[in-house]
Amino acid sequence: MVEAEKKIHLIITRQKDAKSDSYTEEFMVPYRPNMNIISALMEIQKNPVNTKGEKTAPVIWESVCLEEVCGACSMVINGKPHQACSSLIDQLEQPIRVAPLATFPVMRDLLVDRTRMFDALKKVKAWVPIDGTYDLGPGPRMPEKTRQWAYELSKCMTCGCCLEACPNVNEKSDFIGPAPLSQVRLFNAHPTGAMHKDDRLAAIMGEGGITSCGNSQNCVEVCPKGIPLTTSIAHLNRQTTIQSFKDFFGSY
Ligand code: SF4
Repeated sequence: MVEAEKKIHLIITRQKDAKSDSYTEEFMVPYRPNMNIISALMEIQKNPVNTKGEKTAPVIWESVCLEEVCGACSMVINGKPHQACSSLIDQLEQPIRVAPLATFPVMRDLLVDRTRMFDALKKVKAWVPIDGTYDLGPGPRMPEKTRQWAYELSKCMTCGCCLEACPNVNEKSDFIGPAPLSQVRLFNAHPTGAMHKDDRLAAIMGEGGITSCGNSQNCVEVCPKGIPLTTSIAHLNRQTTIQSFKDFFGSY
C-alpha cells in the first residue's frame, strides 16, 4: 500500500492590492523535511491551486537573503511576527496561519510597505557621517565594553517585528517604534556618530518620539535578534531628560 503523501496545511491571508479587502485562502502543499514558510510558499507558486481545487493567483511575498539577515520576509505566522525564512514547518502547529504584518500598509498578499520604519531611521539620522568616500584611515577606537553591546544593537535588520508587536505603533499614531529608538542609542555611542547626538535626541524628543512608548515590553519579546530594546529605551529616557535640562538652562 502506498503511504498518503504528507501535506502542509496553510491558511493565508490575502489581498489583491492596497485598496482591496483581505480574505483567506487555504492550500495543501507537499511536505519535505526541513521546509520553511518560504519553501511552502514556493510550492504554492509552482502550483497555485487552493484546497477547493480552484486555480488561483500565486501568493506574493518579499524575501531577499533567506538567512534571517535582511528582515524582508517578516510576516505573522501562527499569530506571531517572525521571518518566513527562519520559521520551520516542523516547528509549527498546523494548520499554519500566515498573514501580512498588520502595522504596515499591505501592498499585496504578504507584501507590506515598510517605508514608515525607513523614514524613522532617516528622521533619527541612523548612520555615521563620513566626509567623502576617500580613505580616511582608521577611525577612533571604541572601548571594548561599549563595542560588545553596540554590536548586539547593530544586529537590527529593520524587520519590523518589534513595531508589529508594539501596541503604540499603529495607523493612528506617529510613534517611530522601538527599532529606530534603539538605533539612536547605537549611533550616539559611536565616536564619530556622536557628532549628531544632539540632533538624534532632539528628533526623539519631538512628536512620535520616546514619550509615545507605553512600556508594554512586547518589542523585546519578539525581536528575532534578541536586541535589548527596552534597555535602549530606558537609556534614552535618561539621555532625553538630561538633554531637556541642558536645553532649558542653556537658553538662559
Ligand atoms: Fe526586527 Fe529586532 Fe530590529 Fe525590531 S529591533 S526591527 S524586531 S531586528
